[in-house]
Amino acid sequence: MWFNRAAFLIRNRATPLFQQLKNNCFRTNNSGGRFLSNAAAYNVSGGSSYMRGAVFWEPNKPLTFEDFHMPRPKLNEILIKTKACGVCHSDLHVIKGELPFASPCVVGHEITGEVVEHGPLTESKIVQRFPVGAHVVGAFIMPCGSCFFCSRGQDDLCEDFFAYNRAKGTLYDGETRLFLRSNGKPVYMYSMGGLAEYCVVPAHALAILPDTLPYTESAIIGCAVFTAYGAMAHAAEVRPGDAIAVIGAGGVGSSCLQIARAFGASVIIAVDIQDDKLENAKALGATHTINSRNEDPAKKIKELTGGRGVDVAVEALGRPQTFNQCVQSVRDGGKAVMIGLTLSGAKGEIDINHLVRRQIKVIGSYGGRARQDLPKLIKLAESGIFNIKAAVSRTCQFEEADQAYKDLNEGSIRGRAVVEIM
Ligand SMILES: [Zn+2]
Ligand SMILES: [Zn+2]
Repeated sequence: MWFNRAAFLIRNRATPLFQQLKNNCFRTNNSGGRFLSNAAAYNVSGGSSYMRGAVFWEPNKPLTFEDFHMPRPKLNEILIKTKACGVCHSDLHVIKGELPFASPCVVGHEITGEVVEHGPLTESKIVQRFPVGAHVVGAFIMPCGSCFFCSRGQDDLCEDFFAYNRAKGTLYDGETRLFLRSNGKPVYMYSMGGLAEYCVVPAHALAILPDTLPYTESAIIGCAVFTAYGAMAHAAEVRPGDAIAVIGAGGVGSSCLQIARAFGASVIIAVDIQDDKLENAKALGATHTINSRNEDPAKKIKELTGGRGVDVAVEALGRPQTFNQCVQSVRDGGKAVMIGLTLSGAKGEIDINHLVRRQIKVIGSYGGRARQDLPKLIKLAESGIFNIKAAVSRTCQFEEADQAYKDLNEGSIRGRAVVEIM
C-alpha cells in the first residue's frame, strides 16, 4: 500500500558489496572468536544494512512502512529476524491514542523469529541457550532479570520494563534501537517493536521454539496465550473442577478458554456479543456460551452454576460495564480477574459492601512471567493441549498490517490475526 517493494529492493541492491560483506559475513561471537555467520539469516530484501518497519506516527493515522538502520543489540540483548507478529488490541489502543505511548513508534509485541546476533559481551550462557539460527518466541513483558520483582520471580512486574519500555518506549539503558534510515531520527519501541523485519529483544523475554512448532501460529504464545496463562495460573490460581467465565471471546479471551480447559475447569462459560466468536469459543473449550446482547450475563452465569456464580470470572475487554459484570458473576469468595486494558484513566465501580461481606477478590493481571511461563506454554502448544492453529483465525502479509488493525477495530477478526514477516 504505502510501501513500494520494488523500489526498496533496488535501493538495497545498491548497497556497496563490501558493506554487505562486512555486515553479512563476519560477526564477533561472545567467546571472542570470529565466525562466518549464516548469510541466509540476513537475506531479507537482499541486504543487511537496513530493514523495514511499520511506524505509528499519531492517533488514527495509518501505519507507514519506513526504512530503518539495522538495529544493534546491546548487552544481553538479541537481534531477531522477525518471522511473524500477532495483531493485538494493546497495539490498537496505542494506534487509537487510548493508551498514551511515545511516538513515532513501531508497534507489534507478539513475535517469533530467528536469532541473528547477540549484543557485545552478552553472557555466555545466554549465547549457548539461544545460538545464532535458533528459532525463538518472545514475550511482550520483557523482564530485565535483576530488578526487585524479577529477583522474586515476578517477571510480570519488572520495574525496568514499565519504567523504560512502557513509560518511554525504550530498552533498559533509556535508548531505542530503532533509527530511521532517512534522517537517523529515533523511533520508539512498543515492547520489542515487532512489526519490523528485525527486532532487538532482551534475552530474558525469549524462549526456544522447537522445530515442531510453526513460526506463524506460535507468535500468539508471546501475548494472547501468555496473558491468558498469567491470569489463570498466577492471578486466579485455577484448580481442576473450577467453574470459569470469560467475558470477551477475542484473541486473549479465547486463549483463556483453552487455558481453562487445560487446567481442568469443569464449567467454562464464554460471554460475547458476537455469535461467530461464541461459536468459535465452543471449539476452544467453552461448555456454555452467553450472548450478552440478548441476556444479562451475570444472571445467566448464576443460573448455570446453581445460583452461586463462578469460582473465577475473567474480564478480557477493558470496559467499565464488563468490569462490573465480571465482579457480579463470581461466587462468594470468588475471584474476578481483570486483564482487559482500557482508556487511560477509566474507572470501574464495585459495590463495597458486597465485596467486603462476600469476600470477593478483584485481581489485576497483565501477563505471564516470561522466564518460568514461556517454556511451559511452548510445551502446551507442542503437545496440542493448547491448539495454536485453532486460535489463529487469519494470517496476512506484512504490507497488510494496517488493514489488520482496522479489521480488529471493527470486530471482524474472530480469533487472532498474525502478520507474516518472512
Ligand atoms: Zn498483546
Ligand atoms: Zn526486572
